Amino acid sequence: MNDKKQRAISTQQIHHPYQAPEGWDAHPVGVFKASTVLFKNTADLRQPRPRDGQSYRYGLHGTPTSYTLAARLATLEGAEHCLLTPSGLSAVTLVSLGLLRPGDEVLVPDNVYGQNRYLSEDWLPRFGITHRFYDGQDVEGFKRMLSSNTKLVWLEAAGSITLEFPDLIGLLKACKAHGVTTALDNTWGAGIAFNPFDLLPDSEPGFGVDISMQALTKYPSGGADVLMGAVYTRDQALHDKLNHAHEHLGYGLGQNDVELVLRGLPTLELRYRAQDATTRALAAWMAVQPEVAQVLHPALPGSPGHAHWKGISSAGAACLFSVVFKPEYSERQVDAFIDALELFGIGYSWAGPMSLAVPYDMSRSRSLSLPYGEGQIVRFAIGLEAEADLRADLLQGLSRLRG
Ligand SMILES: *Cc1c(COP(=O)(O)O)cnc(C)c1O
Repeated sequence: MNDKKQRAISTQQIHHPYQAPEGWDAHPVGVFKASTVLFKNTADLRQPRPRDGQSYRYGLHGTPTSYTLAARLATLEGAEHCLLTPSGLSAVTLVSLGLLRPGDEVLVPDNVYGQNRYLSEDWLPRFGITHRFYDGQDVEGFKRMLSSNTKLVWLEAAGSITLEFPDLIGLLKACKAHGVTTALDNTWGAGIAFNPFDLLPDSEPGFGVDISMQALTKYPSGGADVLMGAVYTRDQALHDKLNHAHEHLGYGLGQNDVELVLRGLPTLELRYRAQDATTRALAAWMAVQPEVAQVLHPALPGSPGHAHWKGISSAGAACLFSVVFKPEYSERQVDAFIDALELFGIGYSWAGPMSLAVPYDMSRSRSLSLPYGEGQIVRFAIGLEAEADLRADLLQGLSRLRG
């Protein structure tokens, strides 16, 4: 048998070990639910139980079902530890609230997921924590922002809505030289596009982020029916800190939701690759339509951050691209285009089976300059429908734009 580490992600997920009750053998993981976990006797109750992902004390802290999901996700992400949270956003808040203290500063990419931005702007100041936004393409400018107060650097690859792929390697090198903790929102990469803990496996094994987090709401669920998040680490001390915060913040999970994410994992890589292929094809097609000024997708040459994306080994790409329409098309016309689409839902989130389209007003969600000129922007999330059907729908939608 070949080395287990060499096996494909799908194979690893399907054959990930699971300890079933005596005499029961089947692939699906049992759904264990409890608030109360019973102790054998008072002596058993008085025994210390470490929060080690194996011991049981209270349903809030973990069940055989949630520990199995955490272990499988850690394998997928190339991490040692995984903490589960009730949403992607709560995974973001766990990292910032778990690590930052009064007087600390957090550096946040300007194209960060919107709610992470608002957390830094509206909530962290209550705890005396300051923030600054940086441009992930400009490592020199970023270096000048690092100070003795910088205690956490958020990264996101690719960034939200405008999908610029940052100079991840350059930024991480600067952070390591400065000794500051790094946290990557890896929802887009999903553990498939690249390994956040091992970004340069050939030249510098083990070079990567300190913390990764994901909205499991997106790819790992895949069904557009679950909200959940995960925070990953390799370092034990960092995990212990986050685990401590996790306990105090009361992040519990519904075990039926845990089951749904477990059910999504064996098909995760297939879905990711299929959606990636359809998305690249549609993004390239949209880029040559006469109404379109620019398409933002890191795998498209000329898209901001394309070289940084290409520089990461085996970089895949998620199901997102954004279209900037030529400035002569008004908001009303672009809205009419979206409304005319029959196969694209209008709504937030992504990586589910149904394709989605959302117009954005970027003027209110950025501090620095945008990577495109004038024009309305629409973010597309491609689902699992056939490419030809989606292309035909986009084509009929574009005819409305002109009308
Ligand atoms: C969706 C998303 C989140 C938040 O996930 P929720 O489960 O919706 O709270 C965080 N980061 C990124 C990049 C996302 O796309």
